[in-house]
Amino acid sequence: MTRGAGDDPVPAGAVSAEEYKARLANRRLLDGMDIVAGAALRLQTSTEADAYPAHAEDVTLRAIHNLVDFHALGMVWFDPTGLEWKLGAYSPEAHRALLAEEIQHQIEHDFVGWAMTQNKPVSVPSLARGKRTFIHPLGTQRRILGFFVGISNEGYIPDVYRKLISIMLIYCVNTLEGHRLYTENLERRAEEKRLYKLTLEDPLTHLANRRHFDEVLGTELRRAARTQSTLSLMMIDIDCFKAYNDQYGHQQGDEALKRVADAVGATVCRAGDLAARYGGEEFAAVLPATDAHGAAGVAERLRSTIERLQIPHERSSTGPCLTVSLGVSSVVGGPELEAASLIASADRALYRAKRCGGNRMECEAL
Ligand code: GH3
Ligand code: MG
Ligand code: MG
Repeated sequence: MTRGAGDDPVPAGAVSAEEYKARLANRRLLDGMDIVAGAALRLQTSTEADAYPAHAEDVTLRAIHNLVDFHALGMVWFDPTGLEWKLGAYSPEAHRALLAEEIQHQIEHDFVGWAMTQNKPVSVPSLARGKRTFIHPLGTQRRILGFFVGISNEGYIPDVYRKLISIMLIYCVNTLEGHRLYTENLERRAEEKRLYKLTLEDPLTHLANRRHFDEVLGTELRRAARTQSTLSLMMIDIDCFKAYNDQYGHQQGDEALKRVADAVGATVCRAGDLAARYGGEEFAAVLPATDAHGAAGVAERLRSTIERLQIPHERSSTGPCLTVSLGVSSVVGGPELEAASLIASADRALYRAKRCGGNRMECEAL
């Protein structure tokens, strides 16, 4: 039975038959709108984002069930291939098989196709004797997504309820589409972020790559010039690394590189610092707002950290374990400052460290 049909909005006999009918229709409309507005609000404010499609279907189907006492009802969504369909959430569970059979019947008799092509709801005889089936397309302006199907116990569904069902279904589809676009957008942004990160990262060591280093050094030089602060640059080179590869093989060489990179990343860790793989077995660190004394401290800490890793290196000229040499250059920011001269200065310091036997740090002030 249609909900509200048995309600008595006014005592019988107090008004004319027309007035009585009008008041009944009005009452149905208000009650129905109340149900639809409540469900729409639930769809709008739902926090159950993960379970969203099923949750929205459930809220919608419950609201429709409160409008019209369907024997069984459900939503059918077309698969992206356009050939498959599945049942949406609906209640009661016991009517699933019945509904599946009904859907198949209506597809075969082309009533579903008619509702789709006309983009109109249709009420047709059910497979079950004495019942009628209400079919309503589900779609957006751009594409048809599926259809609603409800097997009505009674032949007639008042027009006002048909329209309220339409409003409810349109609202449900719009909410689902909004949710789908929102999720897609989130996924695309996460993917863009991941790809952007890859363009800045060295794949072997996961430190910043040369490109990122160049960008950051340029930015920090401009900042140092603006704020007249001291910027330090540290170049790090593994001692006798060619001999390490020759002795232990390139795979173990890569492992050693990763361990050194981890130590560089862990030591150069102040906010604003950048640790990068400069190329091959060379690393670089940008240390903003850090003077020569501070940078020398960081460099010495890094040198001893790597020595304490105790990575065996039989063919090193500096001792039994793998070591690094470091060159540090510090400069007070000014307009004429260029990245190339700061790098050249740190490089000079580094080669002085090499000439003095390696496993040491040298500084130069520009
Ligand atoms: P020095 O003490 O003077 O720095 O000598 P070195 O052998 O460390 O320096 P050289 O420039 O002669 O050789 C650097 C070596 O680093 C050459 C190459 O075998 C190795 N190397 C560079 N990049 C990689 C890498 O990605 N993986 C591995 N396993 N080895 C690398
Ligand atoms: Mg080198
Ligand atoms: Mg080297």
